[in-house]
Amino acid sequence: MPTAFCSSPRFALHQTGPHHPERPDRIRAIARAMRQAKLIDSSDPFPDFSIDLGTMETARRKLIELPEPTPADERWLLAVHPREHIEHVRRVCAMGGGVLDQGDTPVGPESFQVAMTAVGALISCCDAVASGKAARAFAAVRPPGHHAEPGQAMGFCLFANISIAARYLQQAHGIGKVAIVDFDVHHGNGTQAVFEEDPSVLFISLHQDPRTLYPGSGFARETGIGKGKGFTLNLPMNPGVGDAQYISTFHEKVLPALDAFKPEFLLISAGFDGHRDDPLAQINLSEAGFGQMTELLGQAANAHCGGKIVSALEGGYNLRALGRSVVRHLSALDTMD
Ligand SMILES: [Zn+2]
Repeated sequence: MPTAFCSSPRFALHQTGPHHPERPDRIRAIARAMRQAKLIDSSDPFPDFSIDLGTMETARRKLIELPEPTPADERWLLAVHPREHIEHVRRVCAMGGGVLDQGDTPVGPESFQVAMTAVGALISCCDAVASGKAARAFAAVRPPGHHAEPGQAMGFCLFANISIAARYLQQAHGIGKVAIVDFDVHHGNGTQAVFEEDPSVLFISLHQDPRTLYPGSGFARETGIGKGKGFTLNLPMNPGVGDAQYISTFHEKVLPALDAFKPEFLLISAGFDGHRDDPLAQINLSEAGFGQMTELLGQAANAHCGGKIVSALEGGYNLRALGRSVVRHLSALDTMD
């Protein structure tokens, strides 16, 4: 069964101002890379956008393109966020935009609708996989989500996209245990905040050592709270490491944790800012490394949950590296059945 893909040119409408790394061109670069790799063949929504992605292998088959996503029903956001947070984001955007988090997280007039649509795209991916229409699915969305805490936009993130997807799977599809693997180079502090007391969601985050990178959390000693003790796994990586260290950490820590937990569904917070060309961090992953990690996660999903994976874009700020890495991620997702 093929892999599904959900994105929208509307994700370029979330305006973050000049010089912000989390910028509309990220969505344009991904759309272009996917067309160039022949993963999708719908018409190019960004004909004026120019980027040199270099040569890429051509996919062996097309992905299923899911319909244009629509804004999520607010009740699914309320599964994670207090109403006040949703209203605050709505209000700032309605007034023309502003800054939500000490300068890091600017929003424009469209950002609320775009962020709701990003959640809608994840939900649409969850539906496609949970219903058996697709084996796996990837949502290429902006803004990202893994830094957003229940009551606080943070680190370019407005709503906790992947956490909302996990709650949606549990509440709308009756899924019990969900595992979230986050390989974005930054710690998924928001996801951890949502689930650290919850043993039904295993959260595994690989990220650059928090002493050296935003947001400064995600130490190995953070393993969950109360009933959730043991269901948060933080794997800090030293600046400068690359594919080999990540792959061995997968074999030594990530895969055994998934084997012990036996998830019924696997979610991926897929950030590509651990790429060696990324400007925001000091990890040296390659496109091939992202592909290998994806393959290992696919094998784990095949072993435990019928292969069911929904992956969602988080970071990745070098446009060329981002486009190429997403192609490798998707090719690996799609060759696992
Ligand atoms: Zn990141």
